[in-house]
Amino acid sequence: MSIELNSLRMRAEKGQRHISGAERLLSAEEVEQAALQMLQRALEHPRGRAEKIHLTIEAVCPGEVSRAKLLDLQNNRVTDWSAGRDVAVQLLAAAGVARAVSVEAINRLSQGAAPDGNSMRGAMLINVETGERLESDQYRGVRASRMDLTAQARLELQQALERVGLNNSHVVEAMILATKVVLAPGAVAELCWSDDPDYQAGYVASRGLGYQRISLLKPLGEERGGRVFFVRCPGQSLTDLQVWLEKKPLLIDRIGQIFADTV
Ligand code: AMP
Repeated sequence: MSIELNSLRMRAEKGQRHISGAERLLSAEEVEQAALQMLQRALEHPRGRAEKIHLTIEAVCPGEVSRAKLLDLQNNRVTDWSAGRDVAVQLLAAAGVARAVSVEAINRLSQGAAPDGNSMRGAMLINVETGERLESDQYRGVRASRMDLTAQARLELQQALERVGLNNSHVVEAMILATKVVLAPGAVAELCWSDDPDYQAGYVASRGLGYQRISLLKPLGEERGGRVFFVRCPGQSLTDLQVWLEKKPLLIDRIGQIFADTV
């Protein structure tokens, strides 16, 4: 049975700075409560209280919704963020990203990937062959949107994450986002660490590796974070990739395996 869904999106700013964003795909009954939670999150964000909040609710055509299974999770525990970045480079190499390209991407994230040296609102798009940045607006980048877990899959995921001590909203939201990203046509891998100053973990994801959480990827208190989508997109296919990430609704209705720590 196909149900009517709504894309719910939030974007919050303080001054000219982006401080928080969120994306859900929900039935009409669920939208109101989720919207309230998003507003609360924007007003209580560790990067500061939002001064301007954009909330968008948009109906989604049920026939357009794709379904998928969530990526498996592995947790790589490291003793400091520098070791975490080494693990990220190794994982990206296993996914097909040359060392020079991933090191350059990490440097960009750590210096603030927007032209003013702050975090971007979305992700960098990097050509995996040349290391070139492909996004047309380097403040905004590309934002993955219109994706969510079904209520049942969310419950199962939270229970599975609880068993390995990782049941928090950062991990749940990031796993949903990463699943959408790696399924994009032309996507090779994703790298992420948060812009939340209190949250030092991040991940590398790819179809083959799944979601590889890395316990530390930045120093405590650091607000510069972001995402890199490494892509192989000749010609017109860059448009297809962006349409998938930003426009195509994806509902994840099955979870994958949640493994205990690997390092
Ligand atoms: P967060 O994991 O929410 O702390 O976000 C970390 C960074 O990832 C942000 O600073 C943005 O640069 C980027 N980002 C957040 N949400 C998205 C999204 N939906 N699509 C692409 N990039 C995002």
